[in-house]
Amino acid sequence: MKNKSKHFEDFVSGKHSKDIFSKICELDNALKSDMDLQASVEALGIQMLGPSANHTNIKETDGKIHEIIQLGSNSYLSLTTHPGVIAASKSACDKYGYGMGAVSLYSGTSDLHRKLEKMIAALYQTQDAILFPCGYSTNVGIISALCGPGDVILNDALNHASIFDGCRLSGADVKVYLHNNVRHLEKLLKNIPSSAQGRLIVTDGVFSMNGDLASLDAIIDLATKYGARVMVDDAHGLGIVGPKGRGTAEYFGVMDKVDLHVGMLSKTPGAIGGYCAGNSALIQYLRYYARTYFFSTSLPAPVVAGLIEVFNLLLNDQAGRELLWKNVNALRNGLNKLGFNTGKTQSAIIPVIIGDEPKLIRFCNELRNNGIYTNIVSYPAVRRKECRLRICVMNSLTEEDIARVLYLFQKIGQEHGII
Ligand code: PMP
Repeated sequence: MKNKSKHFEDFVSGKHSKDIFSKICELDNALKSDMDLQASVEALGIQMLGPSANHTNIKETDGKIHEIIQLGSNSYLSLTTHPGVIAASKSACDKYGYGMGAVSLYSGTSDLHRKLEKMIAALYQTQDAILFPCGYSTNVGIISALCGPGDVILNDALNHASIFDGCRLSGADVKVYLHNNVRHLEKLLKNIPSSAQGRLIVTDGVFSMNGDLASLDAIIDLATKYGARVMVDDAHGLGIVGPKGRGTAEYFGVMDKVDLHVGMLSKTPGAIGGYCAGNSALIQYLRYYARTYFFSTSLPAPVVAGLIEVFNLLLNDQAGRELLWKNVNALRNGLNKLGFNTGKTQSAIIPVIIGDEPKLIRFCNELRNNGIYTNIVSYPAVRRKECRLRICVMNSLTEEDIARVLYLFQKIGQEHGII
């Protein structure tokens, strides 16, 4: 009988070993000998030889260079390559240099940083905002600054890993509710003992693996009823969802009810970093207590200058959202027509649920060999029987790109018995 193939999580425990490096050797040996494991990491070592645009050249792990259609970039509105954004960034590099050389509260804040914070606050109609050097550290820093032992955090099961890690670091009592299940959330809220201190409900706005939206209207109602604060990480909603592209809270008409509007500067804004918008006392508190802000060097000025151009576009809803939605609808409808299962997405993230890991890996690798790059998602990000490709749609995909993607999904999907 064939040995059961190993997965990455098989190497984390270092079971019964006195050497913390034993798991490292085990993984190294497995990667040299286990063909299935090798196939599953084939896509993880590629190098991009150009920008995060609809077409780019990549270098495979075996050195082969070829062009791909990009379906794995979170730069949904193609702002990584926007000429005005790049020009602003280049000129800030000449004036400010390419790095800040200090954390924000020492000499790491430029006039550009404060300008960007004010623009982010304007977008959410809050009093102020704070920039973080990285999206992951935004969630970790905020949650661990706000919550501690004695507090209770209500955490959606499909929230991003950085939220889970922030919860863990905080030392609060963390209650995970079933994904987007407000009945379960209410049950947990109801059962919190009166001796508990504060309550925080934290949710992604758009869930990064499914593309579905958090039921923010119902969540806000529950927060009001049970005296909880609400934090929304709308990394994948900004610029895409809502009547003016201001995100999931705008879509549900609850912008003024969310206590902490969190977002990432790495997705639609196309750069790196994160932020929180809220009232000025909250933002002031975070500047002194969020350790990932206080102890971490601030964003380089050229990045911030590019982001100022981005937020100019977002504030005026002129960043190319219509074209994005045209592409999202064409791709999702086309895939559905071919018989692919794309779940319940309402955003620019389209999951293509395959549910069989070896099949998924073969499908993904074959698509890439034919010039289509997509991300692959499996356990622990989703349950293994819901493993999937995760398509991220960009507005710069052309009609020809979409037609080619659909043609290859059909052809390779049929060859691999997926449709
Ligand atoms: N939150 C969500 C919902 C995300 O999808 C991501 C990106 N994977 C992050 C936070 C972390 O952002 P970054 O990649 O900018 O660190």
